[in-house]
Amino acid sequence: MAQQTRSVAIIGGGTAGWLTAGILASAVRESGVTVTLVESPTVASIGVGEGTWPTMRRSLKRMGIRETDFIRRCNASLKQGARFSRWAKDVPEDFYYHPLVLPEGRSEVNLGPHWASGARGQSFAASVCAQERVCEAGLSPKQITTAEYDGVLNYAYHLDAGLFADFLREHCVERLGVKHVLADVVGVNSTPSGDICSVATLSSDEIGADFFVDCTGFRSLLLGRHFGVPFKSCKDILFIDTALAVQVPYEDEQAPIASHTISTAQEAGWIWDIGLWSRRGVGHVYSSAHTSEERARRRLYDYLRPAVPRCEELSVRKIGIEPGHRTRFWERNCVAVGLSAGFLEPLEASAILLIEIAAAAIADKFPNTRESMDVLSRRFNAAFLYRWDRIIDFLKLHYVLSQRSDNSFWLDNRAAESVPGSLKELLTLWRYHDPWVDDLEHAIEVFPAASYQYVLYGMGFDAQCERRARPPRHSPTTDELFQRNEALTRQLLARMPANRALLDKIRRYGLQSV
Ligand code: FAD
Repeated sequence: MAQQTRSVAIIGGGTAGWLTAGILASAVRESGVTVTLVESPTVASIGVGEGTWPTMRRSLKRMGIRETDFIRRCNASLKQGARFSRWAKDVPEDFYYHPLVLPEGRSEVNLGPHWASGARGQSFAASVCAQERVCEAGLSPKQITTAEYDGVLNYAYHLDAGLFADFLREHCVERLGVKHVLADVVGVNSTPSGDICSVATLSSDEIGADFFVDCTGFRSLLLGRHFGVPFKSCKDILFIDTALAVQVPYEDEQAPIASHTISTAQEAGWIWDIGLWSRRGVGHVYSSAHTSEERARRRLYDYLRPAVPRCEELSVRKIGIEPGHRTRFWERNCVAVGLSAGFLEPLEASAILLIEIAAAAIADKFPNTRESMDVLSRRFNAAFLYRWDRIIDFLKLHYVLSQRSDNSFWLDNRAAESVPGSLKELLTLWRYHDPWVDDLEHAIEVFPAASYQYVLYGMGFDAQCERRARPPRHSPTTDELFQRNEALTRQLLARMPANRALLDKIRRYGLQSV
């Protein structure tokens, strides 16, 4: 008789713990599997992580959450992509967009470099989708009459991480039957075979389960400390290792809220700027090998000062980052989700995306017997190793394409020995082929081909590409697509509401239920 999985214990209650609890509990509770989440009353969650991907809409919906409630409770705003300034060159006019919309009329793009700026005097992103100009105008991706989770344009969220965990906790406990234990885990007990059978806690009894999820953040208590699964650093590829984070009040209640993340390159890193409904979340991530903390702080204050003259009075949090990931994520009857599995850096908000993908993978292919766990874990580990490698390549791409040379940070980033072989190969290929994502691999890809194209052509890679006269593979023709996009953009500019105005309305009246 196969040994059934009847209980799951999630250790850790940050974004990873509560998202996993919600996604898992909504999938397995009908089958009688109990989900318990153990959270330390003394160790705070990391409290940053405010940018998400559109997958968050699906995650919230599958947990049975109303979008209106989420937006109100988490002071969330709507995000349509990211604007990268001074990444290609250190001049004020340098910027490009990585919007969340696939180019008009395509589920997957195969648009070549002939689409990139030069030909039409506008950026690649603006040529192929409406979102760049909608964001520049401060407009929203949806209207008050657009149903919950639907968008006129694709969107994700900016959210307050602390409020998000509180909100998910309430939903998981009250609506999804998740048992919540506040206790410090101080030990891990194993069966003779080596599986985890329970965790020992300081203030409560031992907590046993058939399956464990390690969401203990950078501590990685189960996967890292207990099982000793090695950590693979990628500091030789991605140099960011420190963050200075600050919460910035709006100067007045009517201040506009950007519907995109603003990422501004600095001499040894970059600054993120995220507009929530209630405040901005701003932070400077940098390489401590290429600048000092004092200098990085000055860069952060220089950035903030125009809007916040007394920015030196704001409380700045310093957070260390060790870029890399575990070499396996699922060991025996334990899987790590979130920072316990690894972290690279916040560029492109891939961390919460990976949490969602991991939680959905565990929920959809739930290991309902011990016998199936080893096969599932091998498949999970292979898929996630592939994903981490692709994310490393994608993040590194932003640094490799830069033409900045104002600090050794940028020069070192382009040094051949710091560029993964897989990325070098792709860059060679993409000089002659349009970037694509293999259909066969599509299920495990993290970023669509469009994302690569926005970054590549946004940073001027088209200049290195062989010009091909041929039109894209699918009809309609390039010119027809361009005209359609232009017409759509004009319509949207005329009818979409300002981002703040929409958020205020949602908070007041709510969106239509689905
Ligand atoms: P944590 O939030 O650290 O939670 C760990 C949990 O484990 C806590 O509840 C703690 O109480 C518990 N715990 C620890 N020890 C014990 C114990 N002994 N017993 C019981 N419980 C314990 N991601 C994005 O997708 N977008 C972003 O914009 C983004 N920005 C970031 C910026 C920075 C500077 C950093 C560092 C990260 C950023 N991330 C971002 C990553 C994101 O913050 C995390 O992926 C996300 O918050 C998940 O964290 P976590 O839940 O894994 O860990």
